[in-house]
Amino acid sequence: MTEKKTDKAAHKSKADREDLKKKYEHLLNDYKNIWKASSDEDRKQIFDFANEYKKFIDSAKTEREFVSEAITSATEKGFVDIKSVKALKTGQKVFASIKGKGLVLAVIGKKPMSDGFNILGAHVDSPRLDLKPNPVYEEEETVYLKTHYYGGIKKYQWTTIPLSIHGIVYLKDGSEVSICIGENEEDPVFYITDLLPHLGNEQMNRKGTDIVKGEDLNVIIGGIPIEDDVPQAFKIGILKYLFETYGMTERDFVSAELEIVPSMKAKDVGFDRSFVAAYGHDDRVCAYPALATILEISKPEKTCVCMLTDKEEIGSYGNTGAQSRLYENVLAELLNKQNGAYDELLFRKAIENSKMLSADVSNGFDPKYSSVSDPRNSAYMSHGIKIEKYVGARGKSGTNDANGAFVAEVIKAFEDHGVIWQTGELGKIDEGGGGTISAYMAQFGLEVLDCGVPVMSMHAPYELISKADLYHTYLAYKAFVLHMK
Ligand code: MN
Ligand code: MN
Repeated sequence: MTEKKTDKAAHKSKADREDLKKKYEHLLNDYKNIWKASSDEDRKQIFDFANEYKKFIDSAKTEREFVSEAITSATEKGFVDIKSVKALKTGQKVFASIKGKGLVLAVIGKKPMSDGFNILGAHVDSPRLDLKPNPVYEEEETVYLKTHYYGGIKKYQWTTIPLSIHGIVYLKDGSEVSICIGENEEDPVFYITDLLPHLGNEQMNRKGTDIVKGEDLNVIIGGIPIEDDVPQAFKIGILKYLFETYGMTERDFVSAELEIVPSMKAKDVGFDRSFVAAYGHDDRVCAYPALATILEISKPEKTCVCMLTDKEEIGSYGNTGAQSRLYENVLAELLNKQNGAYDELLFRKAIENSKMLSADVSNGFDPKYSSVSDPRNSAYMSHGIKIEKYVGARGKSGTNDANGAFVAEVIKAFEDHGVIWQTGELGKIDEGGGGTISAYMAQFGLEVLDCGVPVMSMHAPYELISKADLYHTYLAYKAFVLHMK
C-alpha cells in the first residue's frame, strides 16, 4: 500500500515539473540538435542533399571549376548569359561570369528592381598552394615546384598528403589549356615530403608556424632524366613531358594560374554517416546551397541574386574579389535591362533597398579545443545554420555589425520556414578572429548578415561539416531569397 502511494506522488510531481518547465519555456532561447528533432523523411532529405553536394564539389575544387560547373548546371535550368539578353522580363534567368573566377546568377522577380534585390553571396576560392612565377627546379635528381600558399593555412598540414594540380595555362600562340591532374583513379598525384620523426628533434621544437616553413612547401613532380647528358636533365625531362602533353614551356608558368589542392574526394564520416569530410568546405558548403537555391527559383516576388566571389581567402581584392565593382556592374546591368535605361539614382536606391546574406562558414565548437571558444556563444555541429551578427577581431574591429532590425527579420523568415538556426562568435574575445565579404557589401548601403555552416578543422586540407547543418543552410537560403520583403 505504502509503495503504491509513493509511486503516485512521484508521478504527479514529474508531471508538475513538466508543466512548470512549459510555463517558462517561452522566456528561454533554446538551440536544438537537428538529428534529435528530425523524422525519417527529414533525414532522407538531409542525406540526399549531402550526396548531391559531394558530387558537385568533387568536380569543382577551384574557383574556376566551381564557376564553370555552376554555369553548366544553370544552363540546364534555363539560365542564359546576360550579354545575350536585351530586355529582362519577370521569371527570366540570367548569369554573368566575372572573368571565369566569379559568377552572378539572377532570377528576375515580379517587383521592379528598384525595390531591391534579395542576394546570397558566397565565395568559391579556398585555401591552397599557388605556384611561384619561376616554380620548376631540380635538386638531387628530383624535380620540384616552388609554391606560395594562398589563404591562412597551417603549413605542416599540407605535407605527406596526395595533391592534385588544377588550373589554366596561356600558351605563346594565344591559346589556353586547362589542366587537372590527380583527380581520376588512374592519375598520378603530387607530394610534399616531411622529415622522419627519427631525425625530427630540432623540427619538433620549433614554433608551430615554422614546423614546416613556406619555402619548404615544394612539390615533387618527377624524377626521370632525359637520355641526353645535359645539365638539368631531370628538369628538362619534366619540361619535355609538359611540352609534349600541353604545348607549354617553362616561360608559360609565369602567366599560368595553377593551383595545388588536396586530391582527396569528399567522404561521409562516421558509422552513421552524419558528417562529411572534404577539401574546401570553406566556402563551397555555403556556395553550393546558395547555387542550389537560385537554380530552383521561378517567378519570385523580388529579383533573387546569387553572387559567387573569388579571392575571399586573401581579402577579397582584385577584380574578381568581392571588393571589385564588376559585381556591382552586373546589378546595374540587370536594372538597366529591366528598365530599358540606366538611372544612377534609381540604381543606388535599388542597392539601398537590397537585402543580403553573406554566406560563409564559421567555426564549429570543438570540445577538444574548447579553451579558445566561449561555450555560451559558439556554434555546435548539427545545431543548424550559424548566424553571426558581427565577425571581426579585437573589439569587433573590421566587422559589418548587422543592423538589429535586419537580424530580427532574418530570424523570423528562418523560423517561419522551419529552419533550425543558432548563433555565436568566432572564438573567445582576443583569441583571433576573421572576416568575410559582408563588410565590403555593406558599403553599398544594403542590409547584410553573415550566416553559414559551422566547420571543424577549418582551412585544413580536409575539413569537416555536419550534413544536418548543410541541409538547414539550404533551407535558410531558400527562405531568405523567397520571403524577405
Ligand atoms: Mn570563408
Ligand atoms: Mn576561409
